[in-house]
Amino acid sequence: MYIELVKYPDVFLRSVSKDVPFPLDDKDSRLIKWMTKAMYQHQGIGIAAIQVGYQKKIFIMDCSRSRENPKVFINPVIITKSDEILRDVEGCLSAPGKQGDVKRHIRIILKYNKENGEEEQKTFYNLEARCIQHEMDHLEGKLCIDYEKGNYNSDKHKSQTMGESDFRTKSDT
Ligand SMILES: [Zn+2]
Repeated sequence: MYIELVKYPDVFLRSVSKDVPFPLDDKDSRLIKWMTKAMYQHQGIGIAAIQVGYQKKIFIMDCSRSRENPKVFINPVIITKSDEILRDVEGCLSAPGKQGDVKRHIRIILKYNKENGEEEQKTFYNLEARCIQHEMDHLEGKLCIDYEKGNYNSDKHKSQTMGESDFRTKSDT
């Protein structure tokens, strides 16, 4: 079945996601499976819960070629960022056909929980580091298309925080 994603300019994407309690309940476990399915279906390398309609601090990533190694990140926090920054164009499953010009740290250390609740701390580089920073933005209601000339433009963000969410009304019916 086709999984519909929340798309720009829906203001639902601007909401800030909340921490997930452990152990995970059935609903959250199902959400993780659902998100993984959606990520592969839409051929993304990462997806955040907000993109399928949930304000929860969860994202999935798979930057591998084989596309069979989804990694689940819950309640993630970036604890270290490299000084080295790279500016590159980024796309988003929630903003098809659009691109952002975004500066990201080349290397980050991320602390997060795995599905079983275990705490993990890992270093990520290059594409994975970029993808994680992109997904972390989603958890705060930010989008890569808000960036201009590499830098975050909060005016673009603010101009888009008012209005109705199509997604919520859709999912209620
Ligand atoms: Zn995105």
